[in-house]
Amino acid sequence: MRPISLIHDALCLRHEPGPDHPESPQRLQTLLQLLNSQAITELQPKMLTPRDATDAELLRIHTPDYVAWLHALTGHTANLDADTVASPGSIPAAVRAAGCVLVATESVVQSQVPRSFALVRPPGHHAEPDRAMGFCLFNNVAIAAKHAQAVLGLRRVAIVDFDVHHGNGTQSAFWRDPTVLYISTHQSPLYPGSGAASEVGEGLGEGRTVNIPLTAGHGDAEYDAIYGGLIARMLERFRPELILVSAGFDIAATDPLGGMEVTTTGFARIAGHLLNAADLLCNGRIVFVLEGGYQLSALHDGVGACIEAMAGRLVVDEPVGALRRMNLGDAAQYLEIWDPYFTL
Ligand SMILES: [Zn+2]
Repeated sequence: MRPISLIHDALCLRHEPGPDHPESPQRLQTLLQLLNSQAITELQPKMLTPRDATDAELLRIHTPDYVAWLHALTGHTANLDADTVASPGSIPAAVRAAGCVLVATESVVQSQVPRSFALVRPPGHHAEPDRAMGFCLFNNVAIAAKHAQAVLGLRRVAIVDFDVHHGNGTQSAFWRDPTVLYISTHQSPLYPGSGAASEVGEGLGEGRTVNIPLTAGHGDAEYDAIYGGLIARMLERFRPELILVSAGFDIAATDPLGGMEVTTTGFARIAGHLLNAADLLCNGRIVFVLEGGYQLSALHDGVGACIEAMAGRLVVDEPVGALRRMNLGDAAQYLEIWDPYFTL
């Protein structure tokens, strides 16, 4: 068994975007039940102590006007975007969610427990520097990457995003930044519409954004080959000092917002490949950060599979970086785009 840490906060339940909204407090309620199950408690995870993100931390990604505007909405109800709503408790929930991801990141860098999962909401990867978008207020994972560099002394951070939607906000944050590798697998066409394979970053950041758009219907076999082969290879070339994972469980076969076919086994395999990469490349340091996932039982089982993989109960025993061209699905057609940057 491997030691792991987890973090969550009941304040994140106070973001209540509405009775019919898919990003509901029930998502976190379901995960709190998971944490109380024997399958998880017997892993004896270290429970980290939450805190708020400070303005200085939020401002490493977001603009002063945007941060001030959201603070002013505390206690009020407002439409932030076509599908993003603030309820009276939303801003404290979002500030705490970002803070939880910071604590998890600090923990994996500074403690003897390099594997952590932050169970937070609202999610973050659609949030742009100056606006809320797609259920997201603050870009939790991007804020954590900047924190790792500015405060924790790391230089190269990789963000891997398996949510069914493209993380446009994370891409924007690091578009010209050679020190953060952003890799996203996502369904295309689908909201938000960005994330073509030809989007590779610009300037010094060229080649440090990797978009792997996939048509609906990709399942365990393709995700296994993409994460165990292609993405493992890219991570090996980049040599990150920390891996942050935008963990979106809306690639589950039953998810109402996505069209992918990933099962619980698939989630364990994806997690296993990323855990192996972290072990090989960065002293095991990896933080999973909850993004989407809207079918409650699939979310419960998918997160459970990831946590069990983190604890070493589920093991993927294959060498990292062996590029298997079988079953790469749609990714196979884009290898020439990425080859100049990663020597695939
Ligand atoms: Zn999503």
